[in-house]
Amino acid sequence: MAFKVIIVGGGPIGLYMAHAFERANIDYVILEQQDTVLNISGQLLFTWPQTVRLFDQIGLLDDLEKVSLGIHHKKRLFGDNGRVTTTSNFWDAMQDNHGYPFLPLLRSELVKILYIHLKGRESNIRVNSRVTDIKPHATGVHVHLADGTLIQGSIVVGADGVHSRTRKIMDSLAAQHALNPARLANKPMVSTFYGIFGRASNVNLGIEPEVFFESRGGGPNDGGAVVQCLATKDIVQFVTLKPLPGGPTSDRSPRYSDQEMEEYATSLADVAVCPGVKFSDVWANVERKSTRMLNQEEGFLNNWFFDRIVLVGDAVHKSTSVNGLGMTCGLHSGAVLANELHSLISQLVGKEEEKREPTTEELESAFKRYQEDRKSEVKPVWNGGHAMIREVVKKGWVSWFWDRFVLPWCDMETFARGWLVSWLLIRQGQILRFVPFEGRKGRVPWARKVGVVVV
Ligand SMILES: Cc1cc2nc3c(=O)[nH]c(=O)nc-3n(C[C@H](O)[C@H](O)[C@H](O)COP(=O)(O)OP(=O)(O)OC[C@H]3O[C@@H](n4cnc5c(N)ncnc54)[C@H](O)[C@@H]3O)c2cc1C
Repeated sequence: MAFKVIIVGGGPIGLYMAHAFERANIDYVILEQQDTVLNISGQLLFTWPQTVRLFDQIGLLDDLEKVSLGIHHKKRLFGDNGRVTTTSNFWDAMQDNHGYPFLPLLRSELVKILYIHLKGRESNIRVNSRVTDIKPHATGVHVHLADGTLIQGSIVVGADGVHSRTRKIMDSLAAQHALNPARLANKPMVSTFYGIFGRASNVNLGIEPEVFFESRGGGPNDGGAVVQCLATKDIVQFVTLKPLPGGPTSDRSPRYSDQEMEEYATSLADVAVCPGVKFSDVWANVERKSTRMLNQEEGFLNNWFFDRIVLVGDAVHKSTSVNGLGMTCGLHSGAVLANELHSLISQLVGKEEEKREPTTEELESAFKRYQEDRKSEVKPVWNGGHAMIREVVKKGWVSWFWDRFVLPWCDMETFARGWLVSWLLIRQGQILRFVPFEGRKGRVPWARKVGVVVV
């Protein structure tokens, strides 16, 4: 059998990996448990310039720009009284620095564009295919589905999100084979914060369009909350987060009832989302069908692979949505994994008579390089998100002083037109090394270019 990747999960990362494999001439199949990959979930995904560049490399930029919401300014404000503490044009500065804009995209639109541009969308995506078990063997993997079907391939890429079944199977296989299972065990994902994300009509609210508002430390006395929103003249997309009342839990997010969502919204009623608009005003105009309440997990795995199974995206590193970097981290991990696999397979496809499949040891070496590479890049971002969510929900005089007097003068995002963020984060963006690409340039040179050694 020719080398074939089984991708578990048809979310943004699974679909992006499929694009990468098509360009690497690597056969693949996506197994998705739902009856379609095109669900209508209303969450808004801030897509950073380095990620927009990755999408440009696979030919999606024009389509994505057409469906993106506009964004120009960022304003932070006190949730208690609506006073704006900082205003910046961070987003525009980033476009100047890198040649690519920030694109706020509805997940449903992004997934649709990834899907319609995929050559193998009809033949290589299997919906209603919930993975229940995986059995690696010397030359490949057997993947079992809930309906009893067996799918065969060479490796499994688990892109099945924060509750990854692939991760659970991988961890239990690793424990069976390890001399010291405790050392290998991955820690579970933990939820400390929960919230609502969704959409409301802006027609009567009049929230200033194309401004990202971040309202900090408002809400309940016992912890505070953060509300982030971005409006067009017609709609406003919002997300809220506050600490779980019972403290951190590794239990899976419950399915919150309408009544629980109502009670949560009531607890934030007086929080100012922007000057002159309270959360209760937004809630009065909410579109229920595109609104969800859930726990937002956090976790960073120690072991990203075992045998012929490797994890990517939220399955392996998961933050809250507060810094808008979860998908970005996952896609760049996906690019590195695709680079490693492409490089391994190309080395083996030499002369026809020498052609052979990679061994498990060769695959594990490639997975290890991927893991080490990405761990060192994602961990600082993950740590930043972990600290940020704890900072922005906080009440009390220290955070008040920080927001009122410190941030307006020394904000990483505005300092020297965002150059710190540009140099430390955005310019380091990954690229598919095997896909010819010139791309756009800004004032800050990209660290990684096709055919160029990393600076
Ligand atoms: C409110 C909110 C706002 C966010 N905002 C941003 C943002 O602004 N910017 C950003 O970069 N990120 C953001 N994120 C994070 C981003 O949504 C995730 O990082 C991203 O969706 C992860 O993609 P994924 O493909 O790894 O997993 P998922 O999107 O979770 O997809 C996993 C897929 O696997 C399927 N699956 C699961 N189990 C199985 C199984 N056993 N068999 C087969 N299929 C299975 C699922 O049905 C699903 O389709 C936000 C998240 C939330 C909740």
